[in-house]
Amino acid sequence: MTEPVLPPFADRPQPKPWIAQIHAYVPGKTTGADGQVLTKLSANENPLGTSPQAQAARHGAGDQARYPDPDSVVLRQALGALHGIAPDRIVMGTGSDELLNLAAQAFAGPGDEVVYVRYGFSVYDIAARRCGATPVVAPDRDYGTDVDALLAAVTPATRVVFLANPNNPTGSYTGAAGIARLHAGLRPDILLVIDQAYAEYVAPADDDGALALAARTTNVLVTRTFSKIYGLAGERVGWATGDAALVDMLNRIRGPFNLSLSAQATALAAVGDQEFVRASFEHNRDQRARFVERLAALGNRGLRPLPSEANFVLIEFSGALRAEDAYRGLMDHGYITRWLPGQGLPQCLRITIGTAAQMDAIADALARMAGA
Ligand SMILES: *Cc1c(COP(=O)(O)O)cnc(C)c1O
Repeated sequence: MTEPVLPPFADRPQPKPWIAQIHAYVPGKTTGADGQVLTKLSANENPLGTSPQAQAARHGAGDQARYPDPDSVVLRQALGALHGIAPDRIVMGTGSDELLNLAAQAFAGPGDEVVYVRYGFSVYDIAARRCGATPVVAPDRDYGTDVDALLAAVTPATRVVFLANPNNPTGSYTGAAGIARLHAGLRPDILLVIDQAYAEYVAPADDDGALALAARTTNVLVTRTFSKIYGLAGERVGWATGDAALVDMLNRIRGPFNLSLSAQATALAAVGDQEFVRASFEHNRDQRARFVERLAALGNRGLRPLPSEANFVLIEFSGALRAEDAYRGLMDHGYITRWLPGQGLPQCLRITIGTAAQMDAIADALARMAGA
């Protein structure tokens, strides 16, 4: 008898090649190079913090020795009531990040293509590669979303299209007509994921219609998060809605107890405090307008704030003051912002809208550095 021929084993576990090619997500920094704690305007967190009711709910969340409700029933009912959505068409995620990954995993795999815009949210590249699919990047139009370019990037292999609206890191926004045209131009077997992480910062009159599309079509998934306007980034809560069959697939593969006890309790209380959401919206709208006006005055120094519907502004630097120098200079003033060479934007800084005093200090520092 001959010995069975074994395959050649490596001397260590071999990662799948599509996993080994992933560059890990780079979060907004908290400290400077020498470790000093800086005022953080690099992660689009809410400068007003979170709802006092959500803070209080954290302490009365329940018995930590027990598993949380695996289906976040009460929280989904509250979200459904707020948005006019049947709760069984809502699936919760450990941040919307979990749901973006699950959407790619459920509908794309090796040999399939996942499309998103250049200067899109960096998680889409990770989500596509994680499931072995091929990321396909559509060109931008002056940093903004080009619906025609997105549609032109679609091939027979396309399975998922991701679009953040408003987009991060650009702040650009595609209105309802553009979203409708994008959806109409996609085959019905292509999943369109509209990532509305910043939707609550958009004036209601400018709604992009994505939730309505998710309600009446079979291939649109909308994701939302508690990390931005609700000020609960630390609790890791997101949700998605779409056709029942889409929600069903995500429910099959999400973490069984994906929302912790305190995540469910604080998010529920936050949903109940829409006054805090309104105050955050108004604060952001007013401070963003003031900050953009200050930046516009530095146009002759090569600074250009790109139009933003979100809680941050992306600034292009094309004059003597370079984005990298502005980034380091602001750090010397005690502020950490987001310089984005890793995302192909070495000429840009993304700055989260903070308090009035913070935005004044940043505008003053930028003006000084630019020699204005
Ligand atoms: C911040 C952000 C999210 C939110 O991610 P969470 O996992 O919910 O914290 C999602 N999409 C975009 C585009 C974002 O900028």
